[in-house]
Amino acid sequence: MDTQAFKRSLHHSDRYNRRGFGSPAKRAQALEEVYQSGLIGNIRDNGYLLEHGRLRVKLAQAFGFCWGVERAVAMAYETRKHYPNENIWITNEIIHNPSVNDHLRQMNVRFISAEKGIKDFSSVEKGDVVILPAFGATVQEMQLLHERGCHIIDTTCPWVSKVWHTVEKHKKHTFTSIIHGKYKHEETLATSSFAGTYLVVLDLEEAEYVADFILGKGDRNEFLDRFSKASSPGFDPDIDLQRLGVANQTTMLKSETEEIGRMFERTMLTKYGPADLNNHFLAFNTICDATEERQDAMFSLVDEPLDMLVVIGGFNSSNTTHLQEIAISRGIRSFHIDTPERIGEFDNSITHKPLGEDLIREIDFLPTGNISVGITSGASTPDRVVEHVIRKLIKLSEY
Ligand code: SF4
Repeated sequence: MDTQAFKRSLHHSDRYNRRGFGSPAKRAQALEEVYQSGLIGNIRDNGYLLEHGRLRVKLAQAFGFCWGVERAVAMAYETRKHYPNENIWITNEIIHNPSVNDHLRQMNVRFISAEKGIKDFSSVEKGDVVILPAFGATVQEMQLLHERGCHIIDTTCPWVSKVWHTVEKHKKHTFTSIIHGKYKHEETLATSSFAGTYLVVLDLEEAEYVADFILGKGDRNEFLDRFSKASSPGFDPDIDLQRLGVANQTTMLKSETEEIGRMFERTMLTKYGPADLNNHFLAFNTICDATEERQDAMFSLVDEPLDMLVVIGGFNSSNTTHLQEIAISRGIRSFHIDTPERIGEFDNSITHKPLGEDLIREIDFLPTGNISVGITSGASTPDRVVEHVIRKLIKLSEY
């Protein structure tokens, strides 16, 4: 499918909107009313530090709502105002934040249901309004909605669109896209749909496995088995790993994406030599600024003397998980929670999700004596949620 031609025709349709309905200033004001927090503003003004009795809270210098998420949420709210009586759907969670998604449900925005990863669009009718979330939608979904005569409100973050553009360039020049991401993640599913031949690698270890294969150290059947769900249909590692371009899910760990890019460059250099490298390797920087800033701020935060870290964000939020990975890599006691309600303010408990495990509940969460707590939140978490977490910590510290 010529995805660029499809996008061009979609963008010219009067049933397609990717700019929203209000001015950016009005949008910012509307969001501020719902999600901003006075307490967080004060902590920011105080050098990202709050001291209250025996409790010391240090906030990361960049955290929470990013520009792309603010824009998507504001566009979704405007959509309800603009279409007060129409059926409004969203193809997925607008962002990975339970409170924001609940707010949309209260506004009677309906979520397309999915079973085993297959979405059911059967209830969506001609004339309905469908919002595409910040991390986008697959080109097939867009095509289906367009053909059905829906109004499409596209809140896809421009950073994500930039990645789509990158993989389309790979496709145009017959390069295989190596996508650093999680193959089941909505953003990567969307990106894959715009790519031609692609392979999704989760981390450096998986990328090394691919690099070894390129250098003749792998087993074809094992390779095909390992990447059966993470590659384009008919992927042939003997043919499709000769010309590579690297792209990523925008919320992956920046340092890992860079390392994967360098590793494939070295691999192609070893295999084809410097004179022919440009025929075999293409690199673009597709790391989003907001992700980078939040990860850099987290690296600074973990250098502080902290007793523990609380990382706030949806459990399926990739960028939040990577923030927690940074805490774990430094051996700091850390807790990933999605809502303030996970902290029991009367019984000093916390229900949290250790990396890669199920939720667990711990009691005696906040120890006695002086305590220094680092806090950060993923790009989908409003300041007000962070404020509620801090207020709970304050209460616990007062008992
Ligand atoms: S994290 Fe980056 S790519 Fe994702 S919505 Fe925010 S700005 Fe856009």
